[in-house]
Amino acid sequence: MNKPERKAPAHAPMHQFPVRDGVLVVGGIPLPQLAARVGQTPFYAYDRQLLSQRVAELRTALPPGLKLHYAMKANPMPALVAHLAGLVDGIDVASSGELKVALDAGADPREISFAGPGKRREELQQAVAAGILINIESFREVSELAAIIGQTGYPARVAVRVNPDFELKSSGMKMGGGARQFGVDAERVPELLAEIGRSGIGFEGFHLFAGSQNLKPDAIVEAQDKSFELALRLAQSAPAPVRFLNLGGGFGIPYFPGEQHLDLAPIGARLATLVERAAHAMPEAKLVIELGRYLVGEAGIYVTSIIDRKVSREHVFLVSDGGLHHHLSASGNFGQVIRKNYPVAIGNRMTPTRCETASVVGPLCTPLDLLADHMELAEAQPGDLVVIFQSGAYGFTASPQAFLGHPRCVEVLV
Ligand SMILES: *Cc1c(COP(=O)(O)O)cnc(C)c1O
Repeated sequence: MNKPERKAPAHAPMHQFPVRDGVLVVGGIPLPQLAARVGQTPFYAYDRQLLSQRVAELRTALPPGLKLHYAMKANPMPALVAHLAGLVDGIDVASSGELKVALDAGADPREISFAGPGKRREELQQAVAAGILINIESFREVSELAAIIGQTGYPARVAVRVNPDFELKSSGMKMGGGARQFGVDAERVPELLAEIGRSGIGFEGFHLFAGSQNLKPDAIVEAQDKSFELALRLAQSAPAPVRFLNLGGGFGIPYFPGEQHLDLAPIGARLATLVERAAHAMPEAKLVIELGRYLVGEAGIYVTSIIDRKVSREHVFLVSDGGLHHHLSASGNFGQVIRKNYPVAIGNRMTPTRCETASVVGPLCTPLDLLADHMELAEAQPGDLVVIFQSGAYGFTASPQAFLGHPRCVEVLV
């Protein structure tokens, strides 16, 4: 008897970009025309409409009192940050370079916050002068800020980033719990709060960020519950009422076969109860979540042209003009333990009559330069356009563009 064939898990369907006459349409423009407009491949394209739509979906699913921030390290393209700055309630920056982009984009400084484990003296000075909220991550930052206040006379606004005593379960990247370079360990926070109280720095609240790329609503809800309880507990030692409570985020998007879109409903429902509880327990507190990848990841694609089609011992290699130097995470070299394929398609052959198993590689002299490994793709030829979906976050700026000296990549917002 034949064993029933076990089907390999598939990618979650990528329906965000329409297909017209067999061609992917991005920002209303057929892909080959967009490539002509950009004037080169490879490029990244981000779709404004999809960004706006994503914010609207979140507003529908999340309780009205909750503030939505954009963590801009996911994609700091200035035009994109400017677009999002008009839609979200605040921007989270992680360096003075990002702070400049956020301010240039027109974000309200009162609604910008700054996190990061190694803030330089000059960065702290810039943050104070800008009037943004600084998420304090060490005792050193308290004394630096006290000195800055003394020298400049400007007030400093701070929240305490707490390294919680729990972890975000099933997270792609853990950033809290255990020993971490991020934040101050929860058990030492009362001591830090006392020091803030003595220093004349303006205390505004807490920041907790447990981890990133989580696709399990239960795990996200649990982390947010625990973060809330921890903040309530720590608030008893605070030198001033809590006005700002950032519960993190970590909402994931499906990249790899078998992964599904995150269900926002249970997360929104639980956050609604937290907003209600906060209204009683911390009446001055604004509750915030900060999202990077979830806001921008699905609105972006990376596009590269096929230069050569090679067959090596019966396996087809589509050699493209883009690769890991522009898109490190699609190559599997940005934190993945086991390499898996991103969703990939031939953007000008979306309704193919003939398919084949092929690998898409880049022009670099390293076997790590792999964009699709043994994937079922439309039969493709030189000149065709390879599209990598889910590329709006941690793409362009998270890749080693100088590696091997190939031409730089371009980004467009359409
Ligand atoms: C990176 C980061 C984020 C964004 O994470 P995503 O997974 O992109 O949503 C949010 N907050 C902090 C503190 C971060 O370091």
